[in-house]
Amino acid sequence: MTGLGSGRARGTARARQAGEEVRLLTGWGRAGWTAATVAVPADGAEAEKAVRRTAETGGTILPRGLGRSYGDAAQNAGGTVVDLTRCDRIVSFDAAGGLLRAEAGLSIGALLRWSIPRGWFVPVTPGTRHVTLGGALAADVHGKNHHRDGSFARFVRSFRIAAPAGTAEITPEGDPDAFWATAGGMGLTGVVIEVTLELIPIETAFMSVDTERAPDIGTCMEMLARGDGRYRYSVAWVDCLHRSRRGTLGRSVLTRANHAGEDDLSQSGVKVADPLAFSPREVVRLPLAPPARLVSRTGAALFNELWYRRAPRRREGEIQPVGTYFHPLDAVGSWNLAYGPPGFTQYQFVVPNGSEDVVGRAVSLLADRRMPSLLAVLKRFGPGDPSPLAFPAPGWTLALDLPLGIEGLSRLLDEIDVMVADAGGRVYLAKDSRLRPGLVERMYPRLDEWRSVRRRMDPGGVLVSDLGRRLGLCGAPQPSAGRAAAAGAGAAAGAGALAGSQR
Ligand SMILES: Cc1cc2nc3c(=O)[nH]c(=O)nc-3n(C[C@H](O)[C@H](O)[C@H](O)COP(=O)(O)OP(=O)(O)OC[C@H]3O[C@@H](n4cnc5c(N)ncnc54)[C@H](O)[C@@H]3O)c2cc1C
Repeated sequence: MTGLGSGRARGTARARQAGEEVRLLTGWGRAGWTAATVAVPADGAEAEKAVRRTAETGGTILPRGLGRSYGDAAQNAGGTVVDLTRCDRIVSFDAAGGLLRAEAGLSIGALLRWSIPRGWFVPVTPGTRHVTLGGALAADVHGKNHHRDGSFARFVRSFRIAAPAGTAEITPEGDPDAFWATAGGMGLTGVVIEVTLELIPIETAFMSVDTERAPDIGTCMEMLARGDGRYRYSVAWVDCLHRSRRGTLGRSVLTRANHAGEDDLSQSGVKVADPLAFSPREVVRLPLAPPARLVSRTGAALFNELWYRRAPRRREGEIQPVGTYFHPLDAVGSWNLAYGPPGFTQYQFVVPNGSEDVVGRAVSLLADRRMPSLLAVLKRFGPGDPSPLAFPAPGWTLALDLPLGIEGLSRLLDEIDVMVADAGGRVYLAKDSRLRPGLVERMYPRLDEWRSVRRRMDPGGVLVSDLGRRLGLCGAPQPSAGRAAAAGAGAAAGAGALAGSQR
């Protein structure tokens, strides 16, 4: 990798540049706000310059995409945050191999608007299309097809990264250590400027979806495992509040799908003028955060009940637009405001195959303690990527949205963390705002390997995030606003966080 390994002149805190402003930032969960100087480069050259300048003047810097990580992964209290969202151009496309070169601030949504009418789809998409390619690579995001296709970085052929030690084009063959330390490295190895991604061909902008209900979590897991070979995409929505009269828990709705071909459309009698038309829309948008959260125990139980009842017991081959299947939450703009000022956390863990009981025990604890989780999501994972910080591993992942400030929540999640770590599993850094640092090394046992590659790319520790500080990913952990907010101590750490923000 050209340029990596050179020394770095330390200096005092750098002066703010024209066009930069100090802003309060938070994650999608809207807890633990911290202030940073935000720079919004117009292109890769400007982003590269920002990294170089920060490295020379002794500040700290962190890339940020669309801020869809739930916790503090895209925050850097007291330092600089480089917002990449203006770097969103498509650079080239090779239709022979489906290879797209684009700037890292391009969102998956914008990419799909361009690529679907041309017959191409992203190989992996998270549950929202409002994420950037840089954010998707940094978290090495997974989709509903992980059991079959793996995660995002598996389809990345190369990327250009501005690291404090130099700017370089990285491929998995040329510099596998830098490639896999960046995939899943949560922005802490450099600012990714451009990405070359392999797209997959599709015939239509529709999915052929099978829906089935499962009466309890055990049956749901058996059904998901049995469907592995048949469905490219699968997911189950689990009701973590309901307990049946027989005492069973975790009734679920499975929605499993494959891309629909033109034949599927005609067999289903669906007539569309253009099978590759794609124009997803927001149906409603929450204008403001309400003064108190709208999600209560009763409300969540009612919502889950309605969701379960309205799903068919079994329906095969329903034709749905890709947006409806992959990104249903995007129909409601700013839905995260519904959790009110305390915000919320998305708690997501993975446990290996053979540890199904941990999923069952977690669901049982959540139900017993009446935690108001709206529709938890259960997915299957296949083999993980070679990244030392890879989140996925063959097994089961459960993700739940939980309002912060609920009595007993921190204690409960700490308990589940230990169960997960004991089973050889881990929580997902892209969603975390509350994990205790003591468990990170157990959950991510290859952390030291990652740290040593990071030291080569960023010898002076210029790249810093609130997540990294809180969990001690790059050095000793430091207390942060995020953990305090997760414990229910309040949401806006605000400018006060600047005080404890120096390296
Ligand atoms: C509704 C919803 C559903 C979701 N579903 C899923 C899911 O199914 N699967 C899944 O894996 N995730 C899921 N996520 C999480 C989301 O995909 C990740 O957090 C993703 O990283 C967000 O991308 P972003 O562009 O918003 O990045 P941000 O949130 O802004 O940043 C995330 C991380 O990426 C780093 N980063 C951003 N841009 C760059 C860059 N150019 N170079 C280097 N590092 C960079 C940041 O420093 C930060 O550490 C979901 C989130 C939401 C809100």
